Amino acid sequence: MIREVVKKLKPYVPGKSIEELKRMYGLKEIIKLGSNENPWGCSPKVKEAILKEINNIHHYPEPINPILMEELSMFLNVDKNNIIVGGDGADEVIDTLFKTFVDKGDEVIIPIPTFTQYRVSAQIYDAKIKFAKFDKKNGFKLDVESVLNNITNRTKLIFLCSPNNPTGNVIENRDIERILKETEAIVVIDHAYIEYADKKYDWSRKVLKYNNAIVLRTFSKVFGLAGMRIGYGIANEEIINYMMRVKPVFSLTRLSQVAAIEALRDKEFLDFSIKNGIKSREMLYSGLKRLGIKVYPSQANYVLAEIENGKMVYEELLKRGVIVRSCSSFDGLDERYLRISIGKFEEIEKFLSILEGIL
Ligand code: PMP
Repeated sequence: MIREVVKKLKPYVPGKSIEELKRMYGLKEIIKLGSNENPWGCSPKVKEAILKEINNIHHYPEPINPILMEELSMFLNVDKNNIIVGGDGADEVIDTLFKTFVDKGDEVIIPIPTFTQYRVSAQIYDAKIKFAKFDKKNGFKLDVESVLNNITNRTKLIFLCSPNNPTGNVIENRDIERILKETEAIVVIDHAYIEYADKKYDWSRKVLKYNNAIVLRTFSKVFGLAGMRIGYGIANEEIINYMMRVKPVFSLTRLSQVAAIEALRDKEFLDFSIKNGIKSREMLYSGLKRLGIKVYPSQANYVLAEIENGKMVYEELLKRGVIVRSCSSFDGLDERYLRISIGKFEEIEKFLSILEGIL
């Protein structure tokens, strides 16, 4: 029979796709600002490498690709024994964390609003969820007390998303340090968007000073490889070794492996993506402000806007071929909040002028 926890899960409703919107409204051109992707795509070298590797796809991939581990190790300046790579993106690393650390009835702490996958995974693994908060009244700053007050001896994972999705702000280093000091649970520092943030908030190396912390990162955002599904975690060797025991062995495909290697090697494309991504974010931020919209400062590749009639705006944007993300499905937010991702500069200009026409 179906597990009770599965019966309680809501069916997954994907965001509107480009193809669907074209069909619905007979549109030719769509501006997609809904999924925090890289609007400039990925490095051309990645595409070449994928085409070449196509010839080998009748062979299983290596469970651990030594060249990829070497490239990641150099990129991060951490030992390869401190890295685990997931073949369904950072989502797989989150799932692996639950498999490794959480028994039925164990507790996890999730400050909201934040990335919804933590809650969904917690439900699937039948963990008890304690919600803490990013304080709306304080610019969505993490309410550290709300985290600390929820720690018990059954707490196994504490999720800290920085920059936080969908609010865009980072978590202060001293707040992360305080939480780390107060718990033996694994503190998960989700850095999916860290490349767009001030370097001083990057825990990718600092995490190794602790034996109860892991940093999550991904190739889905700045590297423009969301469709390849590659993510990774950085932690002390003991955590990595245990996680490797439960991770699906062949989840990282041959194509993903060569894509990740070439993406890491193409520093020029990475620099281009960061520089232009930040410029696009600033265009969005100042453009929305100019239209009189409340918008939150962001260190990620999206901004959060608060609009009284957000539902209407979201729907009218769709009709005009613009996809943004309504935050109605985020715990602790509602349809007044729209998350808008970076786009090419001309897309942002077009979006802002379409929005002006709707308001
Ligand atoms: N963490 C955060 C904060 C995210 O926003 C996302 C993707 N939206 C992920 C993790 C998962 O990324 P991936 O595509 O690598 O599974």
